[in-house]
Amino acid sequence: MTADVRALDGRIIIIGAGVAGLMTALHLAPRPVLLVSKGHVGAEGSTLWAQGGLAASIGVDDGADLHAADTLAAGDGLCDPDVVRRFTREAPRAIETLALLGVDFDCEAGGGLALGLEAAHSRRRIVHAGGDATGREIMRALVAAARRTRSIEILEGVEARRLLVADNRVRGIVAVGAGGPAILAADRIVIATGGVGGLYEFSTNPRGSFGQGLALAAHAGAEMADLEFVQFHPTALDGPARPAPLVSEAVRGEGAILIDETGERFMAGVAGAELAPRDVVARAIWRRLGEGHRVYLDAREALGERFAARFPVIAELCFQAGIDPAREPIPVRPAAHYHMGGVAVDAEGRSSIAGLWVCGEAARTGLHGANRLASNSLSEAAVFARLVATSVAAAPAARLESSRAVPIPPAPEPSAARSILTNSAGVLRDAHGLRAAIAALAPLASSHGASGDPAAVALMIAVAALRRQESRCAHFRTDHPAKAGEPMRSRLTLDEAFAVAQQIAPRALTKRA
Ligand SMILES: Cc1cc2nc3c(=O)[nH]c(=O)nc-3n(C[C@H](O)[C@H](O)[C@H](O)COP(=O)(O)OP(=O)(O)OC[C@H]3O[C@@H](n4cnc5c(N)ncnc54)[C@H](O)[C@@H]3O)c2cc1C
Repeated sequence: MTADVRALDGRIIIIGAGVAGLMTALHLAPRPVLLVSKGHVGAEGSTLWAQGGLAASIGVDDGADLHAADTLAAGDGLCDPDVVRRFTREAPRAIETLALLGVDFDCEAGGGLALGLEAAHSRRRIVHAGGDATGREIMRALVAAARRTRSIEILEGVEARRLLVADNRVRGIVAVGAGGPAILAADRIVIATGGVGGLYEFSTNPRGSFGQGLALAAHAGAEMADLEFVQFHPTALDGPARPAPLVSEAVRGEGAILIDETGERFMAGVAGAELAPRDVVARAIWRRLGEGHRVYLDAREALGERFAARFPVIAELCFQAGIDPAREPIPVRPAAHYHMGGVAVDAEGRSSIAGLWVCGEAARTGLHGANRLASNSLSEAAVFARLVATSVAAAPAARLESSRAVPIPPAPEPSAARSILTNSAGVLRDAHGLRAAIAALAPLASSHGASGDPAAVALMIAVAALRRQESRCAHFRTDHPAKAGEPMRSRLTLDEAFAVAQQIAPRALTKRA
């Protein structure tokens, strides 16, 4: 990657090619865009794995207000109500755009979109494709649309390693591909790098989703928000496969129940039972497992022989693990699944750095608050892709600066950070474990080694979790089990995280370069 990429200087750069990156690029057409993807486009990221679908108030008995009320209830005081209302108004239009781009959504016999029900939604409003193959179908259609759009230049196998920033304004990126490193000058950059599940040992996310976009933005000085809120999906297939195969909420939506090895339906007495909010179900399963039980999702009565037709992807994952879901209960356990926190952005996706927008799971828009409502994330990425593209297109061009020599960070390696974060910032947390994690992560994060960037993201998550001395939805502190009276917003920069680490472990932290 050397001489030929220089011709690309000055294009709008989008880092990441999941639903957020691809849709932002498509909305920006015909403006020239450079789409940088660390893997082969269409083969990486969480979008590919999405099963349930996209939430939008499309049904005749539904409305944007009802969708907003459910989203606000799930977010438990930490959503931005204006963002929520705007999102729920725009979500049906985003579904329409996806359909126009070629996504083949499942329809009823009469021709209307088939609408599924998921946990904590008061209406059937989940649009899906190929039964439970929604993510695959979205990626198929968006990749095809991007490849036939001439204004989109795709750089595959190229990893963004640093943002170049001067005077709080982006100047370009340092990227590394098969041909070596390159500096690409740009005055407008969109981060769309997905979530952080790959920082946990047991996660439904691809191993490569370990928050690189957060590290890029944090090193540039950007503000993060709500980082402590990591959603654990209650029902991942319990086995050796990584990423942990997800058994979608939609299976519970169809009536499957949770039992232990004795056959006891332990959620029966809980409000909402199996369709209670994800964090409630995840903690119930976690505690059951902690008591030495095994936990299963039993779809024999609710779906039986219909299972494979309604959920072909999940059925296949079960068969691969030697389980027939029509005849046997499926062993499950909670897995890190979705990050409500991320780079803090405004209603147009703008970060605190001029020229830097963030879209998709890497962004904290204020939609999810303390808990994401199921299937709101694909819709969020689709809705915000248009808002971000509109904002990027309207931004005045800034002067491009000629590139200068900069150090090239090594390829990131998350395993050291992964084991520390898994043990300290999982379904249940406490100050003792978080302080130990911060002391262990800080020296890694301040090093220039391969562990540096993943450890920096893990450090910020651990510091945010330590600071929030309450339990609220996805964030549960065993030493502070009650919810605080007033919902507290949490903002954090990397420098602030290091300052906390410095107080906790002054000797562990050598001078930060
Ligand atoms: C198993 C599973 C099931 C899910 N089901 C649903 C569902 O039913 N409904 C729903 O709403 N949500 C669901 N989600 C969540 C949803 O899929 C994600 O939130 C969403 O797809 C994120 O999209 P994204 O574009 O932000 O990121 P991703 O799709 O993760 O894409 C990120 C992209 O960034 C690239 N990248 C990362 N770092 C770099 C770098 N440094 N340089 C270059 N490229 C980089 C990656 O290679 C990838 O192309 C599910 C998630 C999982 C894991």
